[in-house]
Amino acid sequence: MLTPELDEFIVRMPKVELHVHLEGAIAPRTLLELAHQNGVELPARDVAGVEQLLRYRNFGEFITVFMTMARVIVRGEDFARLAYELGMDLAAQQVCYAEVMISPMQHIKRGMDLYEAIAGAAEGFAQVERETGTQIRIALDYGRQYGPDLAWQVLDVARKAQPIGVVGWSIGGNEIGHPPEPFAEVFAAAREAKLGLMAHAGEVVGPASVWGAIDHLGVMRLGHGIRSIDDPHLLTEIIRRGVVLDVCPSSNLRTGAVHSWAEHPLRKLYDAGVLVTINSDDPTFFHTTITEEYRRSVTHFGFGADELTAMTLNAARATFLPPAERATLYTQVNAGIVTLRRELGV
Ligand SMILES: [Zn+2]
Repeated sequence: MLTPELDEFIVRMPKVELHVHLEGAIAPRTLLELAHQNGVELPARDVAGVEQLLRYRNFGEFITVFMTMARVIVRGEDFARLAYELGMDLAAQQVCYAEVMISPMQHIKRGMDLYEAIAGAAEGFAQVERETGTQIRIALDYGRQYGPDLAWQVLDVARKAQPIGVVGWSIGGNEIGHPPEPFAEVFAAAREAKLGLMAHAGEVVGPASVWGAIDHLGVMRLGHGIRSIDDPHLLTEIIRRGVVLDVCPSSNLRTGAVHSWAEHPLRKLYDAGVLVTINSDDPTFFHTTITEEYRRSVTHFGFGADELTAMTLNAARATFLPPAERATLYTQVNAGIVTLRRELGV
């Protein structure tokens, strides 16, 4: 039950967000302003129109709207603005650390220079860190539907951008018909470059996709991974290997990956002993925030303060930061939570 004390704990607790897309966090007003400023036609004239646009009915429509909206982001400074706005929003929610994904192909295929985009985002995040102390790093989330060949040039840019804050390499986009296996060599090269590896898998496709991601790509973090629940052997293996599932409950409801809260396997995954974390995915598209996802985890799955703490600490342990920085973050988050729980008596 979401008591006032538990709600206050959720609002004030130090948080770590590992699964959020920069393009999916764009505020409707910013979207409209950028469209106007950059002369990009949008099928929406005002905030109400944007809300209308966000009423997609399935995962395919969601991807189409996502791509339509991404067109308004044109210059490095647009990325800086988006990054700054998202970062300040996360900082206001007591997020101490976040990894934010950028979808490179959305921008490359419009002729944008990917490095300029990343550098813009990095600048926005650096400003957030100077103003609030919240640290934000970047992961590139390659759209699997573009195939492995084009991924190599994106990986080159990711490597070049490591000194300015790129820490992760991921595949996302349309999971249906695009299994992980063809990306094995690209992921091996990303690992060689010391990038953290993750994959969207087991979101709309079943266990085969998760097996491919952990066996062939060697990822230790899965975006969603919720369909792992359908394969007891896979579940055992995920637990044995310590693979972390970055779960985004509202996203799964909104895209139709699950049909109801009652059907969502988060509670079962947690109880089975899987390392899960809670994330917002695309806050604008899913009408949510990381704080709201924590609240919904209480109301729909019955989690309490111990479990919310455990999931937050899972996230702090699973970042792609270098080990020493990861340890510092963990200590900071843990200490903050202990103090807050004592104060609130939760
Ligand atoms: Zn995602």
